[in-house]
Amino acid sequence: MGRTDTCTIFWKAGSWYASITVNCQPERETGNGVVGIDFGVLTAVALSTGEKLENPRFLSQAQAKVKRAAKELRRKKLHSRRWQKAQRRLAKIKRKVANQRQDWVHQTATQIVGANSLVATEKLELKKMTRKPKKGSIRKRQKTGLNRSILDVGIGMLRSAIEYKIAEAGGIFVEVPTQKVKPSQTCPACGKQQKKDLSERVHRCECGCIEDRDVASAKVCLKWALGTSVPSRGEGSSTATPAAKYCGGFQQLASKKRQKPPAQPKAAGV
Ligand SMILES: [Zn+2]
Repeated sequence: MGRTDTCTIFWKAGSWYASITVNCQPERETGNGVVGIDFGVLTAVALSTGEKLENPRFLSQAQAKVKRAAKELRRKKLHSRRWQKAQRRLAKIKRKVANQRQDWVHQTATQIVGANSLVATEKLELKKMTRKPKKGSIRKRQKTGLNRSILDVGIGMLRSAIEYKIAEAGGIFVEVPTQKVKPSQTCPACGKQQKKDLSERVHRCECGCIEDRDVASAKVCLKWALGTSVPSRGEGSSTATPAAKYCGGFQQLASKKRQKPPAQPKAAGV
């Protein structure tokens, strides 16, 4: 493993923690697979293999629990004993959720990186992740606070965990330019582009391709990353040979490979 550097013991929100930093070169190995991933809200993760990982139940339930505890806290007289008690309860719930989320993120990321040496996914668009409340809405303030729900944060953490774990292992993380490729509107089989409503959960193309919407999107990402670019609107798939269309995909891979993964200090909570 490595040499233990520092050990800090601290008290936080009603519990003792030991934070140990270890000076080490992480040893991680990737599998031989390549995979496209669609990170979503309805389904946490859809893979180009057709596999889907559902949102962990505790994450979707956590929001309600935190909300309830926060409401209890607001009802108490500020700094009273009951208020202090309610505050401790809220902190305890938050801490539990954070720990569960951390476990889930690392287990899921390790599983994906352990099987694949290339992961392709859409470039993160912050606009998409936060739903803006309507102008003049009285719930505006509350809504802003809840925009990045516990679930959204969890998905974001999973994405970055996969990104750094695969870099540590010498694999490749490809970010597909959403505007250019439009993974959610493109057929993974023939490349035809067609706008889909958010409510349409199944991709149906006139070429006969029927696929889960998110899995289709993950497939498009993988295809782009591997260089067999999906033909743009109006082009038939027969006219675009993969060889003639080696585009961003491989160039991006080459430049990514040259980057050394950053050394990650490790911290473990006990
Ligand atoms: Zn098609």
